Amino acid sequence: MIRKFRKISKIGVVILILYSKKGEEKMAYVIAEPCIGVKDTACTEVCPVDCIHPKKDEADFEKEEQLYIDPNECIDCGACEPVCPVSAIFPESSLPEKWKSFIEKNANYYKRKKEAVG
Ligand code: SF4
Repeated sequence: MIRKFRKISKIGVVILILYSKKGEEKMAYVIAEPCIGVKDTACTEVCPVDCIHPKKDEADFEKEEQLYIDPNECIDCGACEPVCPVSAIFPESSLPEKWKSFIEKNANYYKRKKEAVG
């Protein structure tokens, strides 16, 4: 009984952390220019919330020149950053000035996807 309660409590804490992160003004990670033409996808394999697309098995993978992070879903865990072989992933706050436009570029991919679904 106590063990079961502990397990439920842990799940509750994880849910609380995720929800509190959602409510904060947070900064998502951003994929910048070095990804263009590379699209390695190691990042998609480590992302715990599946917010990096397109993946290799998705219809628009060939068409898109790079991968993108969904700013509304990213929980800022940082798992993707060290696995990128071309160092294309940055926390928004550390994104080099010359790549600031990639903040919008990442977000726009998901806006386009949403609009396409209707
Ligand atoms: Fe996914 Fe974490 Fe990278 Fe955000 S920081 S894209 S949640 S792996």
